[in-house]
Amino acid sequence: MVKHRAKTLAALFFCLCLLSAFMAPSYAEGPEETAGTEAVAIDYPPGMGGQWVRIGIQWGDAAVESIDLYCGDGFYAGRIDRDTVNNTFVLDSALTAELEGVTSLSLKAGDYPNGTVFLSRGQDPETRSVRINGKNFRDGFIYFANDAGKLHPISYLTLEHYIWGVVGNEMGSYYPLEALKAQALTARSYALTHLNHHWSAGFDLCSSGDCQVYRGLSSEYESTVRASRETEGQVISYGGQIASTFYYAASGGYTMNSEDVWTAVLPYARGKKDEYCSEYVWTAAISFTELKARMQNYGYEVGDIQSVEVSRVLENGAVNQILVHHSLGDSTLTKNNVMSVMGGSTVKSQFFSLSGSPEVDYENLSVASINMVSDSEAGRSKEPVYVLGADGEPVLLELSELSISSDSETVAAGSGQDTGFSFSHELVDSGTLYFKGIGYGHGVGLPQTSARNMADAGFSAVDIINYYYTNVEITSYRALRGEAEPVQETEPEQDASSETGGESQTPAYEW
Ligand SMILES: [Zn+2]
Repeated sequence: MVKHRAKTLAALFFCLCLLSAFMAPSYAEGPEETAGTEAVAIDYPPGMGGQWVRIGIQWGDAAVESIDLYCGDGFYAGRIDRDTVNNTFVLDSALTAELEGVTSLSLKAGDYPNGTVFLSRGQDPETRSVRINGKNFRDGFIYFANDAGKLHPISYLTLEHYIWGVVGNEMGSYYPLEALKAQALTARSYALTHLNHHWSAGFDLCSSGDCQVYRGLSSEYESTVRASRETEGQVISYGGQIASTFYYAASGGYTMNSEDVWTAVLPYARGKKDEYCSEYVWTAAISFTELKARMQNYGYEVGDIQSVEVSRVLENGAVNQILVHHSLGDSTLTKNNVMSVMGGSTVKSQFFSLSGSPEVDYENLSVASINMVSDSEAGRSKEPVYVLGADGEPVLLELSELSISSDSETVAAGSGQDTGFSFSHELVDSGTLYFKGIGYGHGVGLPQTSARNMADAGFSAVDIINYYYTNVEITSYRALRGEAEPVQETEPEQDASSETGGESQTPAYEW
């Protein structure tokens, strides 16, 4: 009898907890619910609450006609109070009641007010997710229709859940842990300094490389989740503020001062020689006709292009300005505009040589036979050498480009190989620009492949961050904002093995 009563009480207590934690007073039947809106507290593990982010999945031209939304746990509906520090979720109790028992929604423009949030009712924050047009995303979804009556699907989730996926998209999940942790720190700092970046489309950050690549649950890996958790709530800061931490794939030997790429002088983004860079060589060709079209697309008033030349080079070898002579006069492309106009996946860095004739792709040149015209000292040729390619076409090699290998051993090498990459620039008037460059990305901040190399060499994430960002600290973003840290509640009678035990020690977070 006593036993039975205890059980009933426990069950009742459990229900009350659920009601207060997940459903808010307004959801219970009572006279005070007429207001129709209530802030809801939903439990999250320590560190996961507080900051939420809105991530655009499709936007602009990729906006869609309709969205299929699915959540096996059902939905809460409401809106976010953007005026509160932590963007409190305000429950729409009438709409939530309407959605009782609904797991699938087919949304069209005009169905709901912009900004309506659909949150999973799932009670386990580790598994809570919604399926948006067939793809799984954590936590919730925001409805937003544009002026043309199309929908921008937006994922709405905690900052930490977002970082779990970003690290896996922005860096290979197989990268060493310390490199992944450096990526988690930069991605978190970048996100927090770019909130509202796409405010006109109804979200904070987009899911493409324009902001940070994010593909939902499918891009989370054990390694990336671990790297995110081990840096949870931590950001890179400078002078007491979160640093806007830019990163990219490969440096090409030097990182860049922010003002040599864009305009702002970021004191923590100072260029330096990169001792840990991976070799990344690229080539590209752009015809004058294509360049004219690209410049016009970019807003340049440009006539028929007559010639192009590199007109300013920085000390580190980066091309800082290109001069384009055309029938309407001269135009200049400066700094990062060179890459923006030509396309960042075509001209991949500011470190390049420019010429009017194509470079031979030596890496992939399959040599059928080689004829040394003359042989002087140590197998080094004095004169140009013709190499017969596998296709039977002779290819002229300049002295500086010649490298003859016997299996893995280099027998003779031209000066280009002795000194690393050397840049040369021609005035090009032959109708096509031929680029050969090194590095991939804008060059400001952390080069991801160098982070991998540093981690492989035994450096920590902190070492990596301090190497690529100048005079920074790694800090809690909540501390920087003067917010309280989430309380890591531990039950005294439990030992450390309860760490993964979870549910009984997760306090409710107001959000
Ligand atoms: Zn973006």
